[in-house]
Amino acid sequence: MGETKNAKETKHILIALVAGTIFGLILYHYQATDVVESLKPVGEIFIKLLKMLITPLVLASIFMAIVNLGSPEELGSMGVKSIAYYFVTTAIAVLLGLVVVNIIQPGVGLDISTLSSGGLSESLNQKVQSSSETGLLKTMMGVLMDAIPENPFEAMANMKILQVIVFSIFLGVAALLNRKASEPLIGFMDSLETLSMVLIHWIMKLAPYGIFALMAAVIAETGFDALSALGKYMGAVIIGLTLHFIVLAFIASWRHKASPLGVIKACLPAMLTAFSTSSSASTLPITMACVEDNLGVQKKTAQFVLPLGATINMDGTALYESVAVIFIGQAYGLDLSIANQVIIFMTASLAAVGAAAIPGAGLVTMSIVLTAVGYPLDGIGLILAVDRLLDMFRTCVNVFGDCVGTVVVESFEKKSS
Ligand code: ASP
Repeated sequence: MGETKNAKETKHILIALVAGTIFGLILYHYQATDVVESLKPVGEIFIKLLKMLITPLVLASIFMAIVNLGSPEELGSMGVKSIAYYFVTTAIAVLLGLVVVNIIQPGVGLDISTLSSGGLSESLNQKVQSSSETGLLKTMMGVLMDAIPENPFEAMANMKILQVIVFSIFLGVAALLNRKASEPLIGFMDSLETLSMVLIHWIMKLAPYGIFALMAAVIAETGFDALSALGKYMGAVIIGLTLHFIVLAFIASWRHKASPLGVIKACLPAMLTAFSTSSSASTLPITMACVEDNLGVQKKTAQFVLPLGATINMDGTALYESVAVIFIGQAYGLDLSIANQVIIFMTASLAAVGAAAIPGAGLVTMSIVLTAVGYPLDGIGLILAVDRLLDMFRTCVNVFGDCVGTVVVESFEKKSS
């Protein structure tokens, strides 16, 4: 028997990822900046093509999910289950992060003067300051207020995904309740969704090239020099993420009645794309394809759970923020009392919800957690050097968490129907 299309696709992406990493190391060694610059457009084109599909896909898929759900009650039931799943798994992630960082203690005894802490760039510093000044409550309120679009077309044009989701939910519910008047729109959205999926499958053929270029450029620019000083910290984050990844795989296997490895394999193209792009939003089109094609999740579940998950469900980011903040506390010798750890637990869970699904967002919302426990924002400078690399790992877990969410929500939906 020949390899399935999915297995072949996954194999090509994996080869591209490994080859890109090796090539990146060679470029780093020879400081071949010209080659890096000429590689960058290839990765950028891949990301742009993925982004091109986000708005039409989110708009049409949420709308069609609601229409296919058949009633506002069904929508409410799926919404509640999705949110419950996001909260439970995020809490597990942060808890795991806290346990791991307290056992490994990567920041204890660290000579912070050996770390670069060359300070934050001006734009990052501004983002961090304003995020920390806003505080948790205002940030959460901000997320809520910002979710309501004043102008849906502006939201679509500027890719404000949460706003597009909210508009789409309103439109979908209106269509449900006015079936006859909405027939033409349903036909349009159905067609938009189907054609977007066709385009995704085309773009996926380019994934190996895009991923090769993205990996090579990131590794060539980051190198592994910072790893020795921050190796223990990186180890703590990656061990925490791996443990959470395993927990998610077992949850999926339990609810989907498939082997954990089978679930991981099915989601691999999405995870590898997440790894190389560091963006759950850019990965969304591929996540959709994987869940529907490889996991056999019903369209209506994937259409609803994934766009929402990509925007607000970030297990990897939440875990990373808790480890990073405790690491900073350990490195500066600050108060690591249980009370502070409880504050970190709560704020990291919520700050991750507020993080945008783009590269580096977790680093910015981490300032909320630091401020909540009174740690210095300068601490971010300590971990900056390895943030790009860790972003790859945490985004991978974020996307896997979204995939697992679809099977969990679907299994509970079936049970209650
Ligand atoms: N890059 C992550 C994502 O898109 C967010 C983060 O920075 O943690 O899921």
